[in-house]
Amino acid sequence: MPDTRESAPVPGGAPSHFIRQIIAADVAAGKHGGRVVTRFPPEPNGYLHIGHAKSICLNFGVAAEFGGVTHLRFDDTDPSKESLEYVEAIQRDVRWLGFDWKDKLFFASDYFERLYGYAEQLIRAGKAYVDHLSAEEIREYRGTLTRPGRNSPYRDRPAAENLDLFRRMRAGEFRDGECVLRAKIDMASPNLVMRDPTLYRIRRTPHYRTGTDWCIYPMYDFAHCLSDMIEGITHSLCTLEFENNRELYDWVLAALDTPHRPRQIEFARLNLSRTVLSKRRLIELVEGGHVSGWDDPRMPTLSGLRRRGYTPEAIRDFCERIGVARADNRVDIALLEHCLREDLNRRAPRAMAVLRPLKVTIVNYPADRVEELPARNHPEDPAAGSRTVPFSRELWIERDDFREDPPPKFYRLAPGREVRLRYAYLIRCVEVVREAATGAVSELRCTYDPESRGGEAPDGRKVKATLHWVSAPHALEAEVRLYDHLFLKENPAEVEEGKSFTEALNPGSLEVLRGCRLEPALGAAAPGDRYQFERLGYFCADLKDHRPGTPVFNRTATLRDTWAKIEARGGAPPQR
Ligand code: ATP
Ligand code: MG
Repeated sequence: MPDTRESAPVPGGAPSHFIRQIIAADVAAGKHGGRVVTRFPPEPNGYLHIGHAKSICLNFGVAAEFGGVTHLRFDDTDPSKESLEYVEAIQRDVRWLGFDWKDKLFFASDYFERLYGYAEQLIRAGKAYVDHLSAEEIREYRGTLTRPGRNSPYRDRPAAENLDLFRRMRAGEFRDGECVLRAKIDMASPNLVMRDPTLYRIRRTPHYRTGTDWCIYPMYDFAHCLSDMIEGITHSLCTLEFENNRELYDWVLAALDTPHRPRQIEFARLNLSRTVLSKRRLIELVEGGHVSGWDDPRMPTLSGLRRRGYTPEAIRDFCERIGVARADNRVDIALLEHCLREDLNRRAPRAMAVLRPLKVTIVNYPADRVEELPARNHPEDPAAGSRTVPFSRELWIERDDFREDPPPKFYRLAPGREVRLRYAYLIRCVEVVREAATGAVSELRCTYDPESRGGEAPDGRKVKATLHWVSAPHALEAEVRLYDHLFLKENPAEVEEGKSFTEALNPGSLEVLRGCRLEPALGAAAPGDRYQFERLGYFCADLKDHRPGTPVFNRTATLRDTWAKIEARGGAPPQR
């Protein structure tokens, strides 16, 4: 089981949840012999996102708690959009998140023959029929919430005729869409799902695993409950939109009189502010070129979050804190970022980097001198050790840290003012050099106090600001990518008539800075390594584009924790 670290109780977040309570009661009652078997059933038609992480943590977490197991099952019954690329990416992401399905890897497509057998059994029992109504007619006959449906004229065919027709469907004697297999339930049921739902349809699309073996494919409602039954799943956890399907889930198993009956339990799906979590929309972002791919660091996919610098621990902590509820809700993305900052604050070594460099020359520092100054890798963790940073006559500081006309409360560098350089010396700005052509500030000339090594003056005089810096001749040049939320709107899934959700995209979600300067210790960074660049935020070496000679860093998060502020103001529930 992954380590779910101790964290302060979340306002509004319950320590336990209703699914855990249901399972605990079942175990106590000796149901299923006290066994707990859950499954995570992704359809391999896209990459996993943070919403799936909620489901993964729930399924694996709750089973492990009760000494049970969790299956990874690919729900691959619709060949049109499924692929091996997605199967592999999903396995990589579940493993990265910290979960292990051991040898319990399953594919619904492996059950095609058995599912077909169950369908014949239903037909023989007079509980399913082949219908020749068109898709449109079926919809028309179904009725509405206020109007009962009508029976199809094909509904009362004898079982033998249905069996023959179904076998011919399988044999490829009908065109796509010419007929379907439907369950014979109740066209007047108040639950629309129960009005003779389709169980099989004809689709001549090659399947990424079974090729052209089949031209009929089972529908979700038929395949899912039976896959759960075949695998001995005890608790089948799914999202709320399947609530109405539960009656059908139970009906299929009862109609086949299966010895094992899993129980479907629904929970609220995760919605996150300033992002979209539907695969259809995520695919649109990728295919429309709005992002660079599924693993674009702005994407809410697990591969995107990984590339952004998220840790699996932070994501698991987030999933723990949001809890599991029965009602739909939207979680503030600031909570996810808060979990990330908490984790990175603990584990990320500190380093100095200057993103928008301004040259500083220390006029009273000898040109040929270089000092190696000790710097701690982590302020609270002595075990993280220390390194040295070179100090020399020519430095880079952040352009933002200098103002010619400092406004009130701007305590950083200004003409005539003294500041501290972290781990180094106190310096005072004595001259501002400008570009002749534009008048823009091109360099600051400063003096340093040789008595202030380490950053404190012997006379104890105070300076208000401490700046980060990098020695110019030793600096590494780097590209740094600054990311912000992908959407400006709180709920980008809420779209006006005739508009696309992509109109709410944040045009400033990516800013690429070139010519950034890094302290030389960062030359050892490997792709995926995470740091806190002092005063700037958390950054990670890009998994794809970073090379030791040509560093590329992604900004994982700034240091501003808006969630901590919300909590400090008296708390806010994680869900709203
Ligand atoms: P989408 O609606 O984005 O296409 P999906 O539900 O069709 O997603 P699946 O691959 O079928 O995607 O999902 C696998 C499992 O993950 C299902 O049990 C599903 O209920 C769960 N899941 C998907 N999205 C979320 C979410 N946002 N929050 C929690 N669980 C989710
Ligand atoms: Mg689905």
